Amino acid sequence: MSILKVARLGNPVLIRRADEVDLRTLASAGIQRLIDDMIETMRAVHGVGLAANQVGIPQKLCIIDLSLREDKAPLIVLINPLIVERDGSVEAEEGCLSIPGYLTSIKRAEKVFLKGVNREGKDIAIEAEGLLARAIQHELDHLEGLLLLDRMSPIKREFFKRRYKKQLSEAKGK
Ligand code: ZN
Repeated sequence: MSILKVARLGNPVLIRRADEVDLRTLASAGIQRLIDDMIETMRAVHGVGLAANQVGIPQKLCIIDLSLREDKAPLIVLINPLIVERDGSVEAEEGCLSIPGYLTSIKRAEKVFLKGVNREGKDIAIEAEGLLARAIQHELDHLEGLLLLDRMSPIKREFFKRRYKKQLSEAKGK
């Protein structure tokens, strides 16, 4: 396994919508190794989630691991995930491995019901609330090419853009 480079704000791969994973490729060594490398990378930087486009692969694949925050939280590998139901609304602080050192309060659905496929290619359905629901929404945003700044109020976004002006203009220029 190897540790992959995590794309930072300014890298155009982060603002492009990821493509669906061709499920026929799931059994291949390449994609299984990518999943293992993503797990190792996420753990090395003490993250709770990582989307494939954050490591430069624009495919609908992400991993979530809350075991650093919650006992016995399972590692979740989500392929072609889709939120089919959302309920409630809650605001809490969030960070992102692609915007290191930045935390901001983001409003998200309180509960989500999600469908997708696991790394073995089996259909899965997850009903989540709390931190898991937040992590799922954050990672699925990545797969749509959305970052924290896309979820901020207009005023907050302006402040954010001023702070990260250089990185953001680099993304646009490419
Ligand atoms: Zn993120």
